[in-house]
Amino acid sequence: MAGKIETPPLTGDKLPIPPVSPGAMANLSPNRAAEGHNTFLNFPGVRVGDWKEKAVEKMGDLLDKYKSLRVFMDICVKCGSCTDKCHYFLGTGDPNNMPVARQELMRKVYRKEFTLGGKLFPGLSRAEEMSEDVLAQWWSYYHQCSQCRRCSVYCPYGIDTAEISMAAREIMDSVGVGQKYCNEILGKVLEIGNNLGINPHALANTLEFVEEEQEEESQVKVRYPMDESGADVLLIAPSADFFSSPHIEGFTGYGKIFHEAGVSWTVSSYASEFANFGMFIGSYDTMRRVAERIREAAHDLKVKRIVVGECGHAWRVGYSFWNTLIGPFDFLDPSYRTPTHICEFTWDLIQRDGVKLDKSANDERVVTFHDSCNVSRASRMGDMPGGQYDIPRNIIKAVCNHFVDMDEETIKEATYCCGGGGGLLTDELMDLRVKGALPRANALHGVMESHGVNTMAMICAICKAQFTKVLPYYHIPMDMVASVHQLVSSAVVLGGKKGV
Ligand code: SF4
Ligand code: SF4
Repeated sequence: MAGKIETPPLTGDKLPIPPVSPGAMANLSPNRAAEGHNTFLNFPGVRVGDWKEKAVEKMGDLLDKYKSLRVFMDICVKCGSCTDKCHYFLGTGDPNNMPVARQELMRKVYRKEFTLGGKLFPGLSRAEEMSEDVLAQWWSYYHQCSQCRRCSVYCPYGIDTAEISMAAREIMDSVGVGQKYCNEILGKVLEIGNNLGINPHALANTLEFVEEEQEEESQVKVRYPMDESGADVLLIAPSADFFSSPHIEGFTGYGKIFHEAGVSWTVSSYASEFANFGMFIGSYDTMRRVAERIREAAHDLKVKRIVVGECGHAWRVGYSFWNTLIGPFDFLDPSYRTPTHICEFTWDLIQRDGVKLDKSANDERVVTFHDSCNVSRASRMGDMPGGQYDIPRNIIKAVCNHFVDMDEETIKEATYCCGGGGGLLTDELMDLRVKGALPRANALHGVMESHGVNTMAMICAICKAQFTKVLPYYHIPMDMVASVHQLVSSAVVLGGKKGV
């Protein structure tokens, strides 16, 4: 049941710019990480005594390391194009949730410490030194950015607020001010192999359960194997795929697709997580430590290729960063792209007529598709520009008779974040999560009214978890949320064709 957070009535029309409400979200911030969670990631356990100096020093390091960050600090012309593009501003009216204002929280310190004008004339330059107040603003508002990059699409200079927010979080971690949700989860994946702390025994039981359920339903045995050396494919899925709904229905679909393709596959108990929260905290080192487990698992299991499941930010890490983080993949079969997205795998099989599909199995559904931020604006699929938009839609159209897109200003590169990405999918930020989901809920309401849409499919574990939780606040049922491979799973006719 939805709680007491108030939400406006949905119209389905373009959202109005909200009245500006200064400080509306100033008191909302995440829980602090415990000492052990910080030290496990090689950050100071608690805030260091000389934290102001250390924070400025770290900012200097990042400005040298990431030239883009220095450029972003310098080039904003205050044109205002980004001001109404953030879902958190549209949902809260807090002016610090305008992307340009969020950037200014770091820029004012940058001016004070790294520009001559800011050093000599701080008042004229709107420069400010690091202080308790500034840190409090960073702590709140850099944890009210889901790093979705929508604002950067509308910025004439391409300023990436997500990168600024990642840098701010890295600076805070470096002085012992870490976020509980992200750092605790990163500890689990580094220690146990997945975000949820599922041990190998529990994972084996889950896979056995999926296998039994699937067989009972279809009367055909489809395998869901773990730690099988020499399999063709190592499947790396977000761990939510092993137990949450509608994630697990999608996972069931992956198995059916591999079965029909005649490809042997396995999950690894050592690396049973595709999500990589190292990106959310801006830490390249942590991101690499998480990703390294996947490389080790693929190597040790002697697979030919790596296929990854439905997870938005992790696809960005895999697609954009794995090569430099954990490449080269010279021990894998060079005929395949590393990583391959499960949507690429499935679409390829469909195009080769390698799987029999019964679209009528989804006839009770009128489906729309939610583009996830990190897939849409930070990666690609297939060999064509826009493949990340077309391939999931092509799959849905191949397995469903009724598909309709939402308002074009809310999809593809203009998509709105679900409101829970970027390390914000935690209960203490529920107020922000609900309000940030307003633009997507409103566009969804539009096609529910106009076309009778009753299913919103997606390919991101965080989007699925977020929407099932927050859509009821907008009087939209949580069971509208579906995995793309859940729809595939329903339509696959097992044994219909020989896939390879
Ligand atoms: S990256 Fe996304 S969440 Fe962050 S300021 Fe831009 S639009 Fe808002
Ligand atoms: S759109 Fe870009 S240049 Fe314009 S105010 Fe926003 S960040 Fe600055």
